[in-house]
Amino acid sequence: MQHRNQNELPKVAYFCMEFGLDEKLPIYSGGLGILSGDILKAAHDLGFPMVGVGILWKEGYTNQFIDKNRYPYDTPQDYDRTQLEDTGVTVKLWIRQEEVICRVWKTERYGNVPLYLLDADVEGQPHGWMTRQLYGGVAQDRIAAEMILGIGGVRALRELGFNPDIFHLNEGHAVFAGFELIKEKLEQGKSFDHAWEETRQEIVFTTHTPVMAGNEVHDHQILNLMGAWNGLEYDQVVRIGGDPFNMTVAGLRLSYMANGVSQLHGMTARAMWRGNIGTAPIISVTNGVHVGSWQNEGIRNAYFSEGNLWKSHLVAKRQLVDYVEQSTGVRLEIDNLIIGFARRAAAYKRSGLIFQRPEVIEPLLQDRTVQLVFAGKAHPQDKAGKDILAKVLQMVDRYPQSVVFLENYDMAIGRLMTSGCDVWLNNPQRPLEASGTSGMKAALNGVLNFSVLDGWWPEGCIHGVNGWQIGGGYEGPEQTKFDAAQLYEVLLNEVIPTYYENRPKWVEMMRNSIAMGLHRFSTERMLVEYFNLLYLPSTSLRRIKGQIRSVQSNSDSSQLEPVAQEK
Ligand SMILES: *Cc1c(COP(=O)(O)O)cnc(C)c1O
Repeated sequence: MQHRNQNELPKVAYFCMEFGLDEKLPIYSGGLGILSGDILKAAHDLGFPMVGVGILWKEGYTNQFIDKNRYPYDTPQDYDRTQLEDTGVTVKLWIRQEEVICRVWKTERYGNVPLYLLDADVEGQPHGWMTRQLYGGVAQDRIAAEMILGIGGVRALRELGFNPDIFHLNEGHAVFAGFELIKEKLEQGKSFDHAWEETRQEIVFTTHTPVMAGNEVHDHQILNLMGAWNGLEYDQVVRIGGDPFNMTVAGLRLSYMANGVSQLHGMTARAMWRGNIGTAPIISVTNGVHVGSWQNEGIRNAYFSEGNLWKSHLVAKRQLVDYVEQSTGVRLEIDNLIIGFARRAAAYKRSGLIFQRPEVIEPLLQDRTVQLVFAGKAHPQDKAGKDILAKVLQMVDRYPQSVVFLENYDMAIGRLMTSGCDVWLNNPQRPLEASGTSGMKAALNGVLNFSVLDGWWPEGCIHGVNGWQIGGGYEGPEQTKFDAAQLYEVLLNEVIPTYYENRPKWVEMMRNSIAMGLHRFSTERMLVEYFNLLYLPSTSLRRIKGQIRSVQSNSDSSQLEPVAQEK
């Protein structure tokens, strides 16, 4: 779709380590990649001038299986590359004192919004390991991939003739793009401080990680060994990212504007990074999901035609029940409550919380008043994560008729679960879930959220109207005990009675949930906020100052509004 304002909007290059466009191109591991994929799709729908920059991983992110000892294992995923087009462009960079050539692939599935993917697996050169496995290997592997994404990504865009007004770095992995932008300006004869300040005007940064240990840090010795300083000097890179080099701090100091991914996470991130001088302001832009990809068509039709939502829900539920039977041999009872829980295996997500008190949950599972569908991957190298999954599998074995685990959680299983369950359970330890998006997918399908007030949910939840909250946002000692008690209380007194005894109210809640999702948690809403709050302030200012090419008419942010409302 084209629209008349396109030339007036800033051109944006969106950098990310992973992109989840669909399950057939498995170069994503989870939420971060799916968010990036959804952004490209929404930019396409809105006609926004954007390109994606990522990596073509040689091994698709893993296929997950459960072995006979009831323990998860992974195999690399093969995939079909015929949808990828070779741009003919290659870029060169120096990594560990060797010249590395990367091919630049393109996928144009979303027309005006191409995704460019860099690939070091080039015939005749030995550097394929650098883009072999997403988040794989040791520090050197990761830094090499990060250099290719950041430094290689900027060079690729220049070669392709796409000169963005804004470089959006999604998470710290891409911060070396900032080093390359500084270097370009140093080569024009500018001072380091001048080059840094100008670069800052071109970058926005999104942080996703409220757990301090999840923020990547590298020693300068290894960065220098790899060539990641990219021609800058030690003192200069320390001013950007400290010593040791913190990728998130670097992102915040290389950008003029940054964001957290929900209102609550924005607050958390501001508190986390407050002590660092010279960082960008961190605002909150709550994530969204691409409605066209995640909303079930039957549900959508029933919602807009005021048709029978329950009937459409049962169609989606039956698809899930059939799939569960096919893959586990267990036939769930379609008339009984199904609760879904699909998460990356991480301790703070507390996948076992619902089992905390067997005397409460056991009777409900024994007579199948409650049926549970679990899914989720651990990173192949994450033993602790796999142990968490093994614990879930123990519950599957203890209650075989009512608890199931679906192998290989990917976008296809995500779609099935977030449209076919009745309830979507989410019980992380607040405030460690930055946003979460699977609950938004569920909301769009009338699958009722039953969640701790963390991530996006405090912004959406009206208890008993469009879903339920667990606890009141309590944080502190005994949090897990407290949250478990609250979970049981709401489950026993509200969720179960409403499901079995008050179907009209349930369906009304489904309708409220869908309305909330469409209205407030779409990627389109999110992208309009990105343009208005993150991209336009800098580009407008630079245009006024004449620092970027002139455009035909003004670039007032009010120009965006009619665009957003057209949809
Ligand atoms: C939506 C989705 C995610 C992210 O959801 P969270 O709520 O952040 O866990 C992860 N993996 C898959 C396959 C998804 O579809």
